[in-house]
Amino acid sequence: MARRTFRGGVHPEEHKDRTAGRSVETMPLPGRVVLPLRQHLGAPAKAVVKVGQRVAEGEVVAEAGGYVSAPIHAPIAGEVTAIARHRHPGGFTTDAVVIEAREAPPADAPEGASWPPEPVRMPPLDPDRASPEDLRNRVRDAGIVGLGGATFPTHVKLAPPPEKPVDTLVINGAECEPYLTCDHRVMLEETDLVVDGIRILRRILGVDRVLVGIEDNKPDAIDRLSAAFAGDPAVSVQACRVKYPQGAEKQLIRALTGRVVPAPPGLPMDVGVVVQNVATAAAVSRAVRQGIPLIERVVTVSGPSIAEPKNLRVRIGTPLADLVASCGGLTSPPGRVVMGGPMMGVAQVDLEVPVVKGSSGFLFLPAPSEEELWPGPCLRCGRCVDICPLGLAPAIIAWHLEAGDLDGAERLHVRDCMECGSCAWVCPADRYLVQWFRIAKARLHERNNQHR
Ligand code: SF4
Ligand code: SF4
Repeated sequence: MARRTFRGGVHPEEHKDRTAGRSVETMPLPGRVVLPLRQHLGAPAKAVVKVGQRVAEGEVVAEAGGYVSAPIHAPIAGEVTAIARHRHPGGFTTDAVVIEAREAPPADAPEGASWPPEPVRMPPLDPDRASPEDLRNRVRDAGIVGLGGATFPTHVKLAPPPEKPVDTLVINGAECEPYLTCDHRVMLEETDLVVDGIRILRRILGVDRVLVGIEDNKPDAIDRLSAAFAGDPAVSVQACRVKYPQGAEKQLIRALTGRVVPAPPGLPMDVGVVVQNVATAAAVSRAVRQGIPLIERVVTVSGPSIAEPKNLRVRIGTPLADLVASCGGLTSPPGRVVMGGPMMGVAQVDLEVPVVKGSSGFLFLPAPSEEELWPGPCLRCGRCVDICPLGLAPAIIAWHLEAGDLDGAERLHVRDCMECGSCAWVCPADRYLVQWFRIAKARLHERNNQHR
């Protein structure tokens, strides 16, 4: 099978062997969950519960705050004990609903009432009989968002406007970030759900072509899904060359279809493609066939400071400290704790942050070296230019930004940067390239808003 790839990219050490061969462990139900109302791109959800209210597992605790938004469901039965600001693992604070498990029914419950109550489930749908609209609404009502980390509400992606016809569904099983293996394990252990979810997604979109992209460091997953789709001419499982960021939407589309997604605000649907992650497909199957909303996910917990690196099936809202305890604790104080992969992940300041829908992993990594902390001057080696997957000139953009020339950086398309971190990773002078670009993009965004 020819291996697909894209231009540019880097080859960081994989570190996947720590968890790739270990089956997913299901964590015990947590005693307390924290549910940030911002767990997806778009408008935050709006709480529909009050402090003191008892909720059942699966009950809606926050409704979608708009079309581009998603509801949030109670991952455990319990009592709402707070609706307050809380630190989010994405690096900000936001309002959150806190639920604590309770041993007994509320005092005012009818005599003999059992506790906990039966989990709330939506009526199962037959995906062959339900209309595409009903299936899409189910995805919306189940609160499903992109589980690869992007957290875009899935139902929105499944409703392309008529002027942007979609002919191809791309399924992302690349998982190119080092350390992360949660998608790999989902493909191996939930193959039936992934396959079923892909067929449901295909039906909703009405496309005749599905391309499943998996990096070729996961040959068992490639074999498993190839076998599952054998005889289905609409679905093709493709091996992609191991290269970061193969799992980025634009790079995966380029590798699998040869199509080039236009620069922002261009979207995959501008080239007739919708991309969904393998774990999202499994969640879609659960929501449609079993009526289960998105209340749990698989999370990779790894890194040199973790006693027993694992993939854990975790209820959304579980504090990170509980995951660490389930992995045997820490063997040494980590220098950095990161949500996501080491290339694009977000640094954490404590273990009280909760698992959110977009938490693909938590990594406990060594502290940065002295050289990393004190970047040197640009050596003009051009490596960052050679590897930028978007064909940008990171060194030159950074020169403009260091000189305070935001307009110059804009002319060099700093807005297009997807913050993959490849340029910073390859830079021999350890320059803070991606950090400059993040700040520049935020300033340009702010400036645009002021103009408006
Ligand atoms: S972080 Fe931005 S500039 Fe750097 S390699 Fe990635 S896309 Fe290119
Ligand atoms: S890789 Fe680093 S040192 Fe080399 S040109 Fe780019 S910014 Fe300069």
